[in-house]
Amino acid sequence: MQHPQAQIVKPRPIRLTTRTGVEVQRLLPQAGLRKVGAWVFLDHFGPTIADDSMVVAAHPHTGLQTATWLLDGLVEHRDSIGSVQTLRAGEFNLMTAGRGIAHSELGLVNPMVPFDQAKLMHAVQLWIALPDTHRQLAPSFEHHANLPRVAGRGFSAKVFVGTFHGATSPATVYSPLVGVQLGIDGLETVMVPLDHHFEHAIIPLTGSLTVDGRHVEAGEMIFLPVGDAGVMISAGRAGTQALLIGGTPFQENLVMWWNFIGRSHAEIVEMRRLWNARGSEESIDVAASHDRFGAVFPDQVGGWIPAPDLPNVELRPR
Ligand code: MN
Repeated sequence: MQHPQAQIVKPRPIRLTTRTGVEVQRLLPQAGLRKVGAWVFLDHFGPTIADDSMVVAAHPHTGLQTATWLLDGLVEHRDSIGSVQTLRAGEFNLMTAGRGIAHSELGLVNPMVPFDQAKLMHAVQLWIALPDTHRQLAPSFEHHANLPRVAGRGFSAKVFVGTFHGATSPATVYSPLVGVQLGIDGLETVMVPLDHHFEHAIIPLTGSLTVDGRHVEAGEMIFLPVGDAGVMISAGRAGTQALLIGGTPFQENLVMWWNFIGRSHAEIVEMRRLWNARGSEESIDVAASHDRFGAVFPDQVGGWIPAPDLPNVELRPR
């Protein structure tokens, strides 16, 4: 496997299959950078004020954990194992799909903020690949409302995955990882500690940063390879917030297609067939779909999103 070099990654605009076809900024995967540790997917949405901004009907996942982090907004999560959870900024939803789960997401009007801000949404959606040893786990869901906060010289952080600067998140992950919302307090350059066994990515979210001497705009991502025990960061504006993710390089090759992660083309074909079978006339096929992904669950979104057609080429692990 080639080792990626330090690089700045520009986001790619992607239109999601939400009710209104909302546009997100995709940072992972990219052609030149597929993973940061086991973090294999990263969509950045907003900040934006929009009706119907996040209305995603039931859809499946396999072989991964979804990690949802909000800077602003309110999202209701529902899934096929019975979880119903409103997510607020600074809290963490972690859904372990394991062998299969289905969920829906609904952006809510926030009654706790002034009316003109009530539909403000700023979110990061991440996926964590499950290692082969854990990808067939029974599905589960965790909500963490009291995450550790830690401060250093010139920075502060809320730790949602792993350990950062001595603070450890209670969230369950299956490979060495870190995920942090990092705030740079002032305008002076600060040294932010890193685990030198990890590769990292830093995504400025509310303003630009200079990281290791390189200017990174809000919404861009800078990738830092394994080996650094710290990085020098300065902010264009005091209080700039960023996402810091990292992990040991994830060595397994994956087949990622639509909302599934598997290890082969044949697995993906079967996952797709089973999900779409819930629309079948044959009750035995519907039962097989429910066995794998859970039965239809009540939500305010309604319906389910069928998997699209597969490409005409064989999906290859990478
Ligand atoms: Mn999802």
